[in-house]
Amino acid sequence: MVDSSVPRPFSHVMSVDVEDYFQVEAFAGSISRSDWERFPTRVEANTHLILDLFDEHGARGTFFLVGWVAERFPSLVREIVARGHEPACHSYWHRTVYSLTPEEFRADTRKAREVIEQVGGVRVLGYRAPTWSITKDCLWALEILAEEGFQYDSSIYPIHHDLYGVPHAQRFAYTHALQGGRQLREFPPATIRLAGCNFPAAGGGYLRIFPLFYTEWAFRHIERKYRQPVVVYFHPWEIDPEQPRLPEKLRSRLRHYTNLRKMVDRLRALLERHSFCPFRDLLEMKETPGREPAKAQVG
Ligand SMILES: [Zn+2]
Repeated sequence: MVDSSVPRPFSHVMSVDVEDYFQVEAFAGSISRSDWERFPTRVEANTHLILDLFDEHGARGTFFLVGWVAERFPSLVREIVARGHEPACHSYWHRTVYSLTPEEFRADTRKAREVIEQVGGVRVLGYRAPTWSITKDCLWALEILAEEGFQYDSSIYPIHHDLYGVPHAQRFAYTHALQGGRQLREFPPATIRLAGCNFPAAGGGYLRIFPLFYTEWAFRHIERKYRQPVVVYFHPWEIDPEQPRLPEKLRSRLRHYTNLRKMVDRLRALLERHSFCPFRDLLEMKETPGREPAKAQVG
């Protein structure tokens, strides 16, 4: 284990989208939200394992909580706060932003944030859309987040994907200049640029399915070439090989179940080699443009 008292040159970000295995978008077509109560829940136990793993390595993270989960497991939110991590908002009902009207989005976000702040006892500064669903079709969501008092967003994935992504968005932290002089910081998940395209580097299914040496290479590359933090993300169900299997289409099953058994070891390897802080710590840092030439900015 690395001595966490030794300052390391870079703090990266480990972010966790706290939702249960039956709430993911891949299963949304066949599991109605009104049925969520019927499933045996595993999110609390899995998140506790993550908290222990982070403690072992002196890492602190950002936990984007689904409001539905925060409401049912208030002691989990309090535990996240008590152990030095940042609670943030991952919507209430885990619906994609582009499927909502602006009014529905505002109501859902407000409800989730109120629950998390009430049970956690701290202010919520950050938002992450379910399934990276702030796309070119719903950039109005950024205005609403700023109006609602959020300081940052981490929902715009600068890649091509069938469900999400804004391929030409910036790859490293930037600031949206919004109406009324409002601003919102954006923290994109890590990507690698190859042959003119951006590829996911350190998150979710990609972290499970791509070999660990690819992720490690991405860390080294982003540190050396861009001097920027690597934003990692994953979900509590991704460390849980024992979760009940849901009868789904092959593609959804492949995305959801591949390499669940390897995930804890991969996280442990990253936690041993790198230092991690919550997004809120990065808000203090001045904007430092990477060496990459400026790309078309979203927002
Ligand atoms: Zn999610």
